[in-house]
Amino acid sequence: MKRPDVVIVGAGSAGCVTARRCAELGLKILLLDRKPRDKVGEKVCGDEISKSHFEATGIDYPEGDEVSSIISGADVYPPSMKNELKVRGWTEFDGWTVNRLAFGQRLLSEAISAGAKFLPNTHVGSPMMIGDQVTGLEYKDLVSGEVTIVKCKVVVDASGFAAVIRNKLENPLVENEIDKRDIALCYREILSLKMPLAEQEVARVFLGGEIAPQGYAWIFPKGPQEVNAGVGITGGEGRGSPKVHFEKFKKKYPLLFGTKLIEGKGGAVPVRRPLKSLVGDGVAFVGDSALQVNPIHGGGIGAGMRAGIILGEVIRGAIVRRDHSATGLWSYNTRYFPDFGSRLASLEIFRRLLQAVSDDDMDFGFERRLLEAEDLMAANRGDGLSLSAAEKLRRVKRGAGRISLLRKLQKAAGLMKKMSKAYHNYPISPEKLEDWEKSVLGIIESATFE
Ligand SMILES: Cc1cc2nc3c(=O)[nH]c(=O)nc-3n(C[C@H](O)[C@H](O)[C@H](O)COP(=O)(O)OP(=O)(O)OC[C@H]3O[C@@H](n4cnc5c(N)ncnc54)[C@H](O)[C@@H]3O)c2cc1C
Repeated sequence: MKRPDVVIVGAGSAGCVTARRCAELGLKILLLDRKPRDKVGEKVCGDEISKSHFEATGIDYPEGDEVSSIISGADVYPPSMKNELKVRGWTEFDGWTVNRLAFGQRLLSEAISAGAKFLPNTHVGSPMMIGDQVTGLEYKDLVSGEVTIVKCKVVVDASGFAAVIRNKLENPLVENEIDKRDIALCYREILSLKMPLAEQEVARVFLGGEIAPQGYAWIFPKGPQEVNAGVGITGGEGRGSPKVHFEKFKKKYPLLFGTKLIEGKGGAVPVRRPLKSLVGDGVAFVGDSALQVNPIHGGGIGAGMRAGIILGEVIRGAIVRRDHSATGLWSYNTRYFPDFGSRLASLEIFRRLLQAVSDDDMDFGFERRLLEAEDLMAANRGDGLSLSAAEKLRRVKRGAGRISLLRKLQKAAGLMKKMSKAYHNYPISPEKLEDWEKSVLGIIESATFE
């Protein structure tokens, strides 16, 4: 291949979608991954993805062997495991659990068919730099051991949680220190059940400090008699091991008694608002490397695919204008943040609220229905928690005795709105980023719910 326009590190869902969109727009793309080709797509994951992401991106729905199960509802359990919230009939919740390998292989094939060149078994090391400008990178062929330097106009870091390029940059626009409390450590198993699931399209989510400190446990259907079940905990130090928490959970929840282990593995996912800037000079970040993950449930497949489409279009524009600096790539920020990015950012406030509520208050809230399925959906859509005056009054009556809990909900609702507004006013150029960041950090700092 002649010198590529763009080198993309990582052929996960975000990297493949970016590669495909760039290639469709006529750019010369080199896509690198350390995995062999037939393992691309394999990923420790809950495997669930909402249909809405496919509708937003135009990417074809999963079908055939890519689909493990159809999902059309959820049961959300409080710590007592009583009075669960049944989320049903919300089309925006419709989706699938996918076979990650088959789904990932399809996304890779689509990128290659669009014209991207893919090199498997390539471990990317350092970026090449001239001043702050990224001008290429160095990779090693894991089979031959040969090291190659490739020059290009834009490098895309789509290497997932590892963020191999981002972590090596020193540029005030680029964040590389991520607080441990903003990372969820997870352990999940694929299990064969003793009996078929009663409701084969319903995902189950379990909240509570005992089950999953500052996180949640899940059981997602993978077939009539198979599930993907796991635990994600945040806070890192002092929270214990997600595997130990999962073992305890398995002994507590009858559906998981006597199951047969098919596979068990750990992983990590960021659960914070996205990076303050998704670009630097000659470089852009997408997917987990950009922290494009839903902070309340850790879902990042869709968030990264949405970003990949925008990024492909922005890179093309930057290349046509011959401006590969952060300013040239800035419209990736201004397109992503006021839209899907603001949703992710305001959900960080909701995550902080959920983490601060005691198990006892959580049980009370579920029993009295202080939070309804509709609120969860509105929060997830990015519409915040906007209650009408009459609805507020009804909930005050239901929440009598726990006014502090209602106040916390109210405070979270206000801060979510503020956060969303800040992201809708994302700066139009890098010069204003510092002031904007200060205002966002101010909102985050006030998001305490003790
Ligand atoms: C336990 C768990 C459960 C989850 N459940 C869900 C869920 O149900 N639904 C959902 O939407 N999301 C879920 N997520 C999050 C989701 O998996 C990620 O957000 C998503 O896969 C990120 O995609 P990506 O393309 O950014 O990164 P990845 O899928 O991680 O891809 C990164 C790629 O980069 C490659 N790479 C890394 N380093 C290098 C290097 N040095 N050189 C070359 N290549 C490299 C890797 O091999 C990999 O192929 C979960 C995550 C975890 C850990």
